Amino acid sequence: MSLKPEDFFKNVISHCKEYGYIFQSSEIYDGLSAVYDYGQNGVELKKNIRDYWWKAMVQLHENIVGIDAAIFMHPTTWKASGHVDAFNDPLIDNKDSKKRYRADVLIEEHVAKIEDKINKEVEKAKKRFESFDEAMFRSTNGRVVEYQTKINDINNRFKAALNAGNLEEVKQLIIDCEIVCPISGTRNWTDVRQFNLMFSTQVGSVSEDSNTIYLRPETAQGIFVNYSNVQKTGRMKIPFGIAQTGKAFRNEIVARQFIFRMREFEQMEMQFFVKPGTENEWYDYWKNNRLKWHLSLGLGDKNYRYHDHLKLAHYAKAACDIEFQFPFGFKELEGIHSRSDFDLMQHEQFSGKKLQYFDTDDNKSYVPYVVETSVGLDRLFLSIISSALREETLEGGETRTVLGLPPALAPIKAGVFPLIKRDGLPELAEKIVADLKLDYLVIYDEKDAVGKRYRRQDAIGTPYCITVDHQSLEDHTVTLRERDSMQQVRVNLTDLNRILDEKVSLKSLLRTLI
Ligand code: ATP
Repeated sequence: MSLKPEDFFKNVISHCKEYGYIFQSSEIYDGLSAVYDYGQNGVELKKNIRDYWWKAMVQLHENIVGIDAAIFMHPTTWKASGHVDAFNDPLIDNKDSKKRYRADVLIEEHVAKIEDKINKEVEKAKKRFESFDEAMFRSTNGRVVEYQTKINDINNRFKAALNAGNLEEVKQLIIDCEIVCPISGTRNWTDVRQFNLMFSTQVGSVSEDSNTIYLRPETAQGIFVNYSNVQKTGRMKIPFGIAQTGKAFRNEIVARQFIFRMREFEQMEMQFFVKPGTENEWYDYWKNNRLKWHLSLGLGDKNYRYHDHLKLAHYAKAACDIEFQFPFGFKELEGIHSRSDFDLMQHEQFSGKKLQYFDTDDNKSYVPYVVETSVGLDRLFLSIISSALREETLEGGETRTVLGLPPALAPIKAGVFPLIKRDGLPELAEKIVADLKLDYLVIYDEKDAVGKRYRRQDAIGTPYCITVDHQSLEDHTVTLRERDSMQQVRVNLTDLNRILDEKVSLKSLLRTLI
């Protein structure tokens, strides 16, 4: 029996807690909203995802290097970047439930519901007609055409209102779409207001305006302000990229959905500096490259789609999201943005320093254009863990919980068990752990029956279990059990390292990218 998406999502959250992946921050004080801590397994999974991204960017691209900029930056950075004036979300409150929402999210979710209706019609038609042409059906079926027209109207009005900064029209659109508050079920809305998402604090001991600094709301600006340092000291030739991972902070209005939207989160961003005029080809390159990276995780091709931005920032040439099908629907996972020379120009202007590139091929200087890829590490974590969790019914009716993580990202690569706690079996198992732990995180477990130990590792997502039995003492072979198929094979002790290298190393994933 399949669970309702909201129940499945609750299971994901409780599984994360039960198996040491994610805890609510400061839980003993009843938690802090939209802030989470990663536990003993979570920290490993997160590190492996980050490493995979880093290696795919920096190690596989000769023209990309990394940096680690500070979270605190000179306050003028955020004036130049536009965050002080325009890093706002439009918020709206429901007067009955007193709940606060992002106006744009309410509208997007309303559109998604209409899209669902279209998809249901399409599915019905697929079952009904033998030779089914979806495009033809969409353009001729009255109900689908009506839904599609509705979506287009809403999108056009919304886009025009946002571009004009017309918040009254955004509210009117919410009223016209008859959107109700999911809690109170009423349409008793306040006006729409803008809300700045940056957290501020004071440096030094005096609290004056001039001492106000911000917790960075994105990592990208640390890259822009270091553009010249890296270009010169690394003797980088355009096109080249600078990658960075690190914490970012946003005072999100609507902070629900677990680690999908947090107030403190981690980003992995790469700014690619290109010659003006070549930005379109690089935008296409990074769009494809990033989708390929996501697909390599094996979570299912159908779970990803591109979503082109309706509202482009005035400086942007193009922007799209890679969306993922989370348990609560398709949502943004990563953004790919063609940002022109906006950021470097702004920093030139505000700092008075030249941020140019001398192109020896053309013998002239210019401010490079930028194509950015920006993905949230926590969102990636959620996409991976929520598609990995499954409940299986085995022959005989027994059930098992499996966290089918991509093996190369799993926190623990192998559990090593002595079949029983005597006869020299624990000693051999410990020796295997000692050999493997130089390369991989492996654990030793001798508690409970071996079947129970397998189940424990299945739920943590450990791809392999190695069991030492009496035969091992005689012929130096062990049982290697694979998590997903539960198949057991006997292998030589001397082959263990090679097998793990083939199956669970980051190298095995990186290989799929080239
Ligand atoms: P959203 O529309 O969901 O608020 P955004 O468009 O503001 O996201 P960007 O500024 O493009 O997001 O940030 C790049 C990436 O950082 C996003 O694709 C997302 O993966 C991640 N991210 C942004 N905000 C958060 C957050 N509050 N919590 C977790 N991850 C986030």
